[in-house]
Amino acid sequence: MISSIKGMKDILPNESSKWQHVEKIIHSLSQLFHFKEIRTPLLENTSLFSRSIGEETDIVSKEMYTFLDRSNESVTLKPEGTASVVRSYIQHHLGEEQPSTKLYYISPMFRQERPQAGRLREFHQYGAEILGSPNAIADSEIILLNAAILKNLGLTNFTLIINSVGCENCRPNYKIKLVNELNNIKNNLTELSKNRIDKNPLRVLDSKDKQDQDALKNIPVIFDYLCESCKSHFEELCQLLKNANQPYSINYKLVRGLDYYTKTAFEFISENLGSQDALSGGGRYDLLTLQLGGKPTPAVGFAGGIERLLIALEKENNNFHSENILQLFLASADEKGKDYIFTLAQHCRNAGISTEFDLLNRSVKSQLREADRQNAKFLILVGEKELTEKSLTIKGMKTNISHSLKIPLQVEELKSIINK
Ligand code: AMP
Repeated sequence: MISSIKGMKDILPNESSKWQHVEKIIHSLSQLFHFKEIRTPLLENTSLFSRSIGEETDIVSKEMYTFLDRSNESVTLKPEGTASVVRSYIQHHLGEEQPSTKLYYISPMFRQERPQAGRLREFHQYGAEILGSPNAIADSEIILLNAAILKNLGLTNFTLIINSVGCENCRPNYKIKLVNELNNIKNNLTELSKNRIDKNPLRVLDSKDKQDQDALKNIPVIFDYLCESCKSHFEELCQLLKNANQPYSINYKLVRGLDYYTKTAFEFISENLGSQDALSGGGRYDLLTLQLGGKPTPAVGFAGGIERLLIALEKENNNFHSENILQLFLASADEKGKDYIFTLAQHCRNAGISTEFDLLNRSVKSQLREADRQNAKFLILVGEKELTEKSLTIKGMKTNISHSLKIPLQVEELKSIINK
């Protein structure tokens, strides 16, 4: 037997209605905020990610699914969405159509991480990006869309945390100071953090390890090093969130795992997720478009994981209703009935009634059992007797409703009974 690859899961038929429900809310809320959907390929040139996410990040240095294709080109399965969206934005000159472009996506992503609860190797992200606006109001739009999706799904137990990670003017000074300080406390840090001091010092700050957290208690935070422009951007964002009644807390140690962030960084976290507590995260990336060969374009975005949303929803006891309700099961008592229901099924489906019948030539008893197993709302049984008498009966499977209908059947009449 061949099984699925470690960390990659099938979404089975009994789970897919939950996914459809979540995706429907993501589509409808994104469109309510007037974002337009963008779909980019799963496979991209490897250099897109190494140039944008950063060579020293965990994603690029050890997690990407990278391989040579048959033309010896190095290609990579998307580990995140922003780089591809920005590539597409530059390639198709999307900024020329609109000075501020609002895009959203839902897509599988691939990272070869150690699988655990809430961490997979193929997972699904939803995300949104605004390209073209340098203003804090765009950051608030991204954060408020993110919050609206969580709320509309019925989640209540989540917190927004925000920070500013500075820009190309103020971050280098802070980085020098940080590396100095980290070297001073090096012996108290975990091996992983020690190794990050030279490669990716900001990442040391958001280590979840207790040993690191204790050692980092008195470390200088970037907030004290922000330039005027970053500071006022952050203050403006805080004010906008207050005006929108969006609660938040500031965590000066919040940094993100990707190199391209500038100014705003944020995460929505949930206590219900255990160690992988981030539902979603994002921030501003004003330099990325230039870095990828486009015109300088300030931008801000976020991405969230659908698997983690589903875990959080389950923990909060959110019951999903199945959206795929079978309205009508057609059963046949004999060959004549079988021919009749085959045609009737097509009429019903054309009229928008979800309809099912037996494909296995089973006995009447087995067909009725199947109708019950499939949770059909209504049942019609047809045989030679009904066809001769030109009269059928539609019965509610879970109610006492019963109506007789004349042949030739009026599908509209049937529809009105079913939809009552
Ligand atoms: P990131 O792109 O790392 O900022 O991740 C954004 C969101 O995607 C996280 O908050 C998670 O909800 C989700 N996510 C990231 N990596 C994984 C993973 N390996 N498995 C499941 N979800 C993930």
